[in-house]
Amino acid sequence: MTYRIEGKTGTWELVCGLEVHCEIISNSKVFSGASAEFGGEPNDHVAFLDAGFPGQLPVLNEKCVEQCIKTGFGLNAKINKHSVFDRKNYFYGDLPTGYQITQLFYPIVGEGYLDVTNEDGGISRIGIERLHLEQDAGKSIHDMHPTRSYLDFNRAGVGLMEIVSKPDVRSPEEAGDYLRKLRSIVRYLGTCDGNMDEGSMRCDINVSVRKVGETEFRHRVEIKNVNSVKFVMQAIDLEAHRQVELYEAGQTFPQETRLFDPENMETRSMRSKENALDYRYFPDPDLPPLDITDEYIENIRKNLPELPEVKKARFMDELGLSEYDARILVSDRETALYFETAAKGRDAKKVANWVMGDLFAALNREYIAIENSPVSPENLGALVDLITDGTISGKIAKEVFEIMFETKKDPAAIVEEKGLKQVSDTGAIEKMIDEILAANPDKVAEIKAGKDKLKGWFVGQIMKASQGKVNPALANQLLEQKLKN
Ligand code: MN
Repeated sequence: MTYRIEGKTGTWELVCGLEVHCEIISNSKVFSGASAEFGGEPNDHVAFLDAGFPGQLPVLNEKCVEQCIKTGFGLNAKINKHSVFDRKNYFYGDLPTGYQITQLFYPIVGEGYLDVTNEDGGISRIGIERLHLEQDAGKSIHDMHPTRSYLDFNRAGVGLMEIVSKPDVRSPEEAGDYLRKLRSIVRYLGTCDGNMDEGSMRCDINVSVRKVGETEFRHRVEIKNVNSVKFVMQAIDLEAHRQVELYEAGQTFPQETRLFDPENMETRSMRSKENALDYRYFPDPDLPPLDITDEYIENIRKNLPELPEVKKARFMDELGLSEYDARILVSDRETALYFETAAKGRDAKKVANWVMGDLFAALNREYIAIENSPVSPENLGALVDLITDGTISGKIAKEVFEIMFETKKDPAAIVEEKGLKQVSDTGAIEKMIDEILAANPDKVAEIKAGKDKLKGWFVGQIMKASQGKVNPALANQLLEQKLKN
């Protein structure tokens, strides 16, 4: 159902845009040679430049430029051959230079889009305004000492991609899918690890509401640094309702920055934007404009990995998977890689069923990520082969799978060890059938009188007597023959 808020004075819709900061995967920081690795002892990864010492000059890390361009392609966006670094001036303890190097007027990546699934199951296109390259600030730690704050500059100067959407988001569901898609894309591309809980992907949300039919935007509230997809969706819904209630009560509210508090399920005022800060942006005199060539861009484009949407289309067209199956299997890079390895040279649909059925269930049960699965993709493929060539039945395969999951052994060894091979000796099966028929003369009579349904019951008895080791098709065939006699 389309997201709407019913008020006493009319029906309201959401107008929302997202600004996502993604920490760039790179060995070193964007303008210094210090390590960009997450963690470490406080202030271990700090060059003089990151600590704001005078006399140091920034040198642009080319890896970060490449990562921005890759991500730009993932967002169907225009790559700008000319971009400029600006200083955004403000004072805060975790910003020792007194300014952040960012890109305001000439970002490295321009307009693009992402298609997301909305709450009606349809597709909504969310415009991308820009992606710019900037540096992260350090971290202030306020909860280690009652009266002091600590500063850790390990993060100061780490490269960030800030991805700004257009105000096209119309529901919490669209926002959630936008973030999931974005995370999946940067992970596929290897440009950001997308871990929202570690802060390597952080989301600021701009929320406003308007009456359905209005074309102008009303003023908006920004919610800062929300750190999970679920919280983003909750924060949007809460804030939209709060604004509608205020409008409906005839009250005004300031254009401000708020914080989302998931424990109390509310947004709280952080600072007013009435007197918007003047950051006195100006081009950084220490850094020349960044000019890149068509060849440079083309070379990156040529070496891009297959992106989720393209992979999904290929799974449907080439492997014959349904839209649903393809969507699930491409949703993260590791799952797609696992499936492709397991399905190589096999019936893709059968393999997909095993991955999405027994494997997902077992992994979820044990909280194991697919890349650490005790059943390797090669072994899962081998298990499907054993079913396909008739060595084991589908029912026995489930049992074998559980043993594989516990022991990491390959399926053929388990089948051999446990004597689980399907019985294909027709003599032995016939003997079994004779015994069952002899023990149930009344049911045989009923079948002969036309009650065909009972045949299924007999097949069940044969399976039971053989502990599942008889091929059901063969059992059926032999049963028919016996009943004809
Ligand atoms: Mn930013």
